Amino acid sequence: MARRREGSCRPGRSAALGVALALLTAGSSTGTPALDPFDVVVLDAGHGGYDDGATGPRGTREKDVVLDVARELARELRARGITVVMTRSEDVFVPLEERTHIANDARGDLFVSIHANAAADGRIHGTETFFLSLDASDDAARRLAERENRAFGEAAAAQPIAADPLVAILGDLIATEHLSASQEFAGLAEERLGRRDSTSSRGVKQAPFVVLAGVQMPASLVEIGFITNRRDERTLAAGAGRRSIIEALVEAIGVYRGRHDVRRGIRSSPARGAP
Ligand SMILES: [Zn+2]
Repeated sequence: MARRREGSCRPGRSAALGVALALLTAGSSTGTPALDPFDVVVLDAGHGGYDDGATGPRGTREKDVVLDVARELARELRARGITVVMTRSEDVFVPLEERTHIANDARGDLFVSIHANAAADGRIHGTETFFLSLDASDDAARRLAERENRAFGEAAAAQPIAADPLVAILGDLIATEHLSASQEFAGLAEERLGRRDSTSSRGVKQAPFVVLAGVQMPASLVEIGFITNRRDERTLAAGAGRRSIIEALVEAIGVYRGRHDVRRGIRSSPARGAP
């Protein structure tokens, strides 16, 4: 399967440059004014419309699960005084550029993309939280980013690997403000998700997800479970299991919000969600 066509605009390289430039742009916006409290979260439910995402053994579709979780999470966050902007709030496919545009237009303080994982081995289960990197943590992370990126077309799926000298140079110039904040949130999310039971967290990882590349704010992608694992599928489909995922994310966002406001010298009001 040829991912690159002669005479086209070298999609692999342009995707790579896109990621590198986005990282650079994101990192260059230091010097943020003080007294800018954390108030906007952008929730990005993956897939939608003709794009089902992954499907579980009982037929549960990723696009439905992640939309329901995003909606419930939005309700919880709004109840805590946080403005929530959703890249999609119904069963429609939203292209990559539009997701990025919605997020940046909202001037979000945090971007959380919600997905469900899939594996050929039905025994694999648990959550993984990602932040952006040109290089994947491991082969599984690379393949996952490839699969998730493919939703946005073959050009996005072509791996942005830093083999290109220009990308490597840009990579060296990447400032780390948003990256370290993204890593911080990913750590909080995964830690809270892991508290649900001792086997539920697979850790924080890095991979070149294109949906994280264009947003000019700290950004993480949460794989809230393996839809291909029967137990995870049940958890994701409804009920107390799903509730525990949402509560974990609400807590992580609450803690992140508190730290953000303390860093900016803003006395955080005692958020109901923050522990
Ligand atoms: Zn997905």
